Amino acid sequence: MKLRVGLGFDVHPLETGKDFWLGGIKLPSDKGAVGHSDADVLIHAICDALLGAANLGDIGFHFSNKDPRWKGKDSKFFLQEITSMLSERGWQIENVDCTLTLEKPKVNPFIPAMKKTLAPLMNISEDDVSIKATTNEGLGYVGREEGVNAYAVALISKK
Ligand code: MG
Repeated sequence: MKLRVGLGFDVHPLETGKDFWLGGIKLPSDKGAVGHSDADVLIHAICDALLGAANLGDIGFHFSNKDPRWKGKDSKFFLQEITSMLSERGWQIENVDCTLTLEKPKVNPFIPAMKKTLAPLMNISEDDVSIKATTNEGLGYVGREEGVNAYAVALISKK
């Protein structure tokens, strides 16, 4: 069996009055992430981790933020498409592990719903999706609540 690991990172600015899509669900929040698609930073980091593991480029290469087709697009679509791209090449996703950095809102209560939403898009069980969150201790753009970061690693295998 061949194993490969991939790393993903994404950042989006936060603005008052925008919807906050994170991990495939909409969080109750006075601020939301801004981007060309739905700006789901967690899904974007997972997409890049999976593409990196399979050595298939990055999310911007496949779903350009200049392409009007992806304007306001639900990022769950990107994750599903990337899972299919890997599957067509014989890759099975083993697990993903993610860390979010943001000050508000507290995301821990929403992590079970995120896992439940994301796992089927990758054809894996909820137990294979780890999502963690930390504040940035008030430091930098995350600390000032101007942005949100997501980091992800993914392991994939081929028989
Ligand atoms: Mg992004």
